[in-house]
Amino acid sequence: MKALITTILATIAAVTLQAQPTMLPENQQARPLSDVMNEVAQQFGVKFKYNVDTTGLVVKYAPSRIRPYSLEETLQNILAPFDFKAWDQGKKTWKIKPYEYPRRYDSDGAKMVNYLCSLYNNKEEWEPRRDALRKEVRQRLGIDSLKAHCVPLKPILGKVRKMDGYNVQNIALELVPGYYVCGSIYLPANALAKKQVARQGKYPVIICPNGHWTNGRYNGDLQKRYATLARMGAICISYDIFGWGESRLQVGKDAHATSIAHVWQALSGERLLDYALTRKDVDAERVASNGGSGGGTHAALLAAIDDRLTACCPVVSVCSHFDGGCPCESGMPIQYSQGGTCNIEILATFAPKPVMLVGDEGDWTHTYPTIEIPYLKRIYGFYGAQNELQTIWLPGQRHDFNKDKRQAVYDFFASVWNLPKENQDESKVTIEEEAALQSFGSVDKMPQGAQRNIKALIEQNFDKEMQQTYFELRWAAGLEEKARKWSDSLHLQDAAKTERVRQLIEKHLKAVTKWHNDHIGQCPAGINPRTGEKLREVDRQIICDAAQPRSYHEDLMNGLRKELTEEQVVTILDLYTVGKVDFTMRSYHQIVPNMTAEEDSICRAYLCEAREMAIDYKSMKEISEIFGMYKDKCEEYFNTHGRNWRQMYKDFHNKRKKQQH
Ligand code: ZN
Repeated sequence: MKALITTILATIAAVTLQAQPTMLPENQQARPLSDVMNEVAQQFGVKFKYNVDTTGLVVKYAPSRIRPYSLEETLQNILAPFDFKAWDQGKKTWKIKPYEYPRRYDSDGAKMVNYLCSLYNNKEEWEPRRDALRKEVRQRLGIDSLKAHCVPLKPILGKVRKMDGYNVQNIALELVPGYYVCGSIYLPANALAKKQVARQGKYPVIICPNGHWTNGRYNGDLQKRYATLARMGAICISYDIFGWGESRLQVGKDAHATSIAHVWQALSGERLLDYALTRKDVDAERVASNGGSGGGTHAALLAAIDDRLTACCPVVSVCSHFDGGCPCESGMPIQYSQGGTCNIEILATFAPKPVMLVGDEGDWTHTYPTIEIPYLKRIYGFYGAQNELQTIWLPGQRHDFNKDKRQAVYDFFASVWNLPKENQDESKVTIEEEAALQSFGSVDKMPQGAQRNIKALIEQNFDKEMQQTYFELRWAAGLEEKARKWSDSLHLQDAAKTERVRQLIEKHLKAVTKWHNDHIGQCPAGINPRTGEKLREVDRQIICDAAQPRSYHEDLMNGLRKELTEEQVVTILDLYTVGKVDFTMRSYHQIVPNMTAEEDSICRAYLCEAREMAIDYKSMKEISEIFGMYKDKCEEYFNTHGRNWRQMYKDFHNKRKKQQH
């Protein structure tokens, strides 16, 4: 088998290594990118730092790309063909990075806003575009087809936990059959809020989408905000983003950085609002969204696609030159609505309802004072409603959701809904553990039918490309689960070590599976030189998979041996190979009469070799095949050491037949 693999591999290598010579025709004025960049650096007196590899790259028509009056334009012209982009780092230094679809220069934001301003000068000119935008954003998001498949609202509510002036209750809401969005509801529970805020027992509600803050919605700063707003008299609903928290249990963490997350998170917000409006203590006239960073992007998105919202507060997020750096914020092509838009215009469609925009100097919202705030003021001006637009911009601050920013949020909702400022004391808030905020905590505690029908649902609702992404995610989630179970089964009594082992296994399983999936059917048909017969499908797949980088195997084995005892390593290898070593050894002992210690140890050694080789193969068929090769060796050993395998097997078979009768 090894000889066969080597032969075939050599053939594959020979085919793929026939490199094409690089053509540098005179008339294309082609020059190495690195040379051109060095000259540009000299010409403009700047330095470049590289986050990309320029080795071997060639620029065509280099001289015609230079603009002596503009470094920015020159760099754009030179770098665009490679999907690279240059970013000004200050001190005459520019960083060359790979192109990022959601991120543009500040100056592009200014140009965009100028363009938008040229489209409308008053309410009459603005409103047709506003209406078309709201409609198209919703359409491009694809949320309605998903909503059509949502199950009726059947919230699973946890026990109410009583705190100082507020209560917390967990919720799990099934969105589509088998998928649950999980969150927590923060409820006002004090006399002052009741007296000042409630109208016929009804309180305002704030849907709180999340950003990518550490620990997601369990983050202490976020808990402070939800609880304080509840103490002030607003019901807050926080919920997991796709692939985080309890969503991760269902779809795996890799599900997050996908376009599917974009629509799924919007759907979660909408359905939780649908649910909130069925509650007797929620006032349908006072409905808002509030979140920071990615949560701000989603807060603004909800405001743009859902007429039921009456106030919105995005923090350190929406702007004119950045759409949100994660596919969960910008994966679906909503920015192409009406020929091209940006997040600040999407938020503007909410005018003249109350908005609070919170920004700072240390992230992309640094342009608020010069670009976004004046733009929004103009739109609110169309309605004579500039008072409904509140803005806070914090010089010297970085991208976070700190006390000052939370204060801005409290002040905004206090002003919009007359909430009591006396209840803004965050020290009254109890920060809860993750487990307390979860509805299920693990997959086995989820309702029956959880995630069973998602496959069909995705097939009905998403196009081919999205389905592909989704199914890749599904296998990734399955492998994550496998890695977790295997590593937990060692009962290491050391959480950090268990996690490291889990990561090693997960990385290996994913690498092997990806390699396998990427190379299905790629090994050419051929003849097995040993038997002269045509290669079987499984032989060809094994040949393909054997070509995977050695590092997949070595990283796993070296890592496991560093963390675990040899016995524990063996336990993991047995899990990979479903206990085939012991199973086969038991059979040998039944087949071979009075098997000697030496025979036992030789066979076991062969099978252990098989086991370590087999872990790098994805399908059970391949794994069995590899064990088969080593079983041949065991049987050959018996035959060359005074036994007759065929006879022993026949005797064993007959004996068993007799016993059965
Ligand atoms: Zn995200």
